[in-house]
Amino acid sequence: MTTAGDAHASAPTAAVPMISMAGVQKYFGDLHVLRDITLDVPTGQVVIVVGPSGSGKSTLCRTINRLEPVDAGTIAVDGRELPAEGKALAALRADVGMVFQSFNLFAHKTILENVMLAPVKVRKLSRADAKARAVELLDRVGIGNQADKYPAQLSGGQQQRVAIARALAMNPKVMLFDEPTSALDPEMVSEVLDVMTALAREGMTMLVVTHEMGFARKAGNRVLFMADGQIVEDTDPDTFFTAPKSARAQDFLGKIL
Ligand code: ADP
Ligand code: MG
Repeated sequence: MTTAGDAHASAPTAAVPMISMAGVQKYFGDLHVLRDITLDVPTGQVVIVVGPSGSGKSTLCRTINRLEPVDAGTIAVDGRELPAEGKALAALRADVGMVFQSFNLFAHKTILENVMLAPVKVRKLSRADAKARAVELLDRVGIGNQADKYPAQLSGGQQQRVAIARALAMNPKVMLFDEPTSALDPEMVSEVLDVMTALAREGMTMLVVTHEMGFARKAGNRVLFMADGQIVEDTDPDTFFTAPKSARAQDFLGKIL
């Protein structure tokens, strides 16, 4: 969390938030899924999003890069409001990397090709440059020696690390993670969280939907607790996990801890 001291030490100009949502409303038919979400995430902040199933966590992530359009309100990334569609949307969407619970790798492409694909197609990198970058990123997530394999030949934890490398290959300004370890066998959770922790330490702005409390406390700067489409608590991880204020958060923590 930004403190007065941090603000004093950094640039004198007022910093534009990396993610800025104001008055965002989202409905699925009659279901009001995001209720007046207003949220600023400063550059470099790691925000943990928790809350019961159906509270709107995934929808929140998906609206930030317009995988879901919103019904009202504004969303800006790095000071630029997302256009509804078209080429400008594709370019801005590429600034927001997303990693899902299911790894969503292309099954018929090698690990290397999975990581090279979008930079060549969307960022118009040469194949040589895209390959060099992919090799570097696969090394960084500890998969360098598996580059020529196909996704099905890798474990779930390895596939998720490839998915992270693939998102990073676009040089995103923000990374969104939606329950990235929920589909993994328990012994593979830490290898993915370690990569995410390293990314957080390098200063990436991150929004992470997860119930991994150890990660939240180690890597997170801020916790948002969602219920019924609203941000009910917005505090630091230690406070949230040790002294949640609302009855709903207390009830929720009682069930997951
Ligand atoms: P969470 O990720 O917190 O579990 P979601 O954002 O996935 O919650 O869902 C919030 C609510 O919106 C839930 O009631 C869910 O059933 C509903 N919902 C999500 N996606 C859709 C959709 N594409 N169509 C209709 N309802 C949806
Ligand atoms: Mg979800």
